[in-house]
Amino acid sequence: MASAVKRLLGLGDREVKSDEITVDPLTNRPTHLWSKMKVKQKVKKVEALDPNTPIADDKLRCVCISDTHAQIEHRNLAIPPGDVLIHAGDITNVGMPKELIQFNDYLGTQPHRYKVVIAGNHDLTMDDDMVMHQADYLRNFFRVDVGAVRKSLQEMGVSKPRDLLSNCTYLEDAYVIICGVKVYGSPWQPEFGGWGFNLPRGERCLEKWNMIPDDTDILITHGPPIGHGDSCFDGQKAGCVELLNTIQKRVKPKFHVFGHIHEGYGITTDDVTTYINASTCTLRYKPDHPPIVFDFPLPDGHTKDEAIGQIVSCRPIEDHVNNGSENTDMECDTVEPDRDSDECSDNVVFQ
Ligand SMILES: [Zn+2]
Repeated sequence: MASAVKRLLGLGDREVKSDEITVDPLTNRPTHLWSKMKVKQKVKKVEALDPNTPIADDKLRCVCISDTHAQIEHRNLAIPPGDVLIHAGDITNVGMPKELIQFNDYLGTQPHRYKVVIAGNHDLTMDDDMVMHQADYLRNFFRVDVGAVRKSLQEMGVSKPRDLLSNCTYLEDAYVIICGVKVYGSPWQPEFGGWGFNLPRGERCLEKWNMIPDDTDILITHGPPIGHGDSCFDGQKAGCVELLNTIQKRVKPKFHVFGHIHEGYGITTDDVTTYINASTCTLRYKPDHPPIVFDFPLPDGHTKDEAIGQIVSCRPIEDHVNNGSENTDMECDTVEPDRDSDECSDNVVFQ
């Protein structure tokens, strides 16, 4: 491409590779976009593995839950045995320390050797940027008093809510290696009524997905990709097209575990990646969906005796320093979902 043309297109002198993932022009209209995309997409339903299937020595048995919303610990739901317990976010209703402590205590009672957890949009206090810059909003709309939360954390000798999750590995734009299997976790989702870890669709979401390493084996995000487990009760699609493109064109993980759209619970595949919406709660916030299990073959030379690896953060250095403060322009007036928009709402709990 001639450099003058590239400049006109805003590409500078940078080559755009044919397989490079770019923002879809229809990113803000996922339902409409999917109606066009679906003719070229494979979405096949997958039968869940029976949790009573004997656990093999050469496979990691992964047990997936999500969107437990501070209920799983009270109802003492049966979680099948396995090697890795995965929670794909929305541990709580609004991220209060008390909710996190109860969840952590519950995790401590579970026998799985490895436990991997990410946050979701309801785990408000775990979103550092929101806590730092939107204290008034959190108080006015969610009755979360940031000062009181900080004080109670201080009294417990921890600096952040995530520090309360001592019985698991908490991933936020980071990965961990479990017996040779790379597991990456990220809490972000396209804007969804002014909750935590929300980002505008398009470039901002893609920036997060660009951090996912190419060789990720199991991807955990809170939100679904477009087309898999993302259908809302009203027929709207809530998934992220840039996430699907990242999965299909670059990362190609064996499994993608998520939640967020409770009514999208279930398993599908595109013949490369198996997509698991593990939402434990139903649309009406009843924790009735059973955990979903799958087996991941151990890579050659690895055994189940190995200690879990170090958490490796994939966030850029300046993001660590600023704690995501580039998000200071986040709109605070989106708590009321726009019923006419191409979106659906996750605020049933506050109806
Ligand atoms: Zn949820």
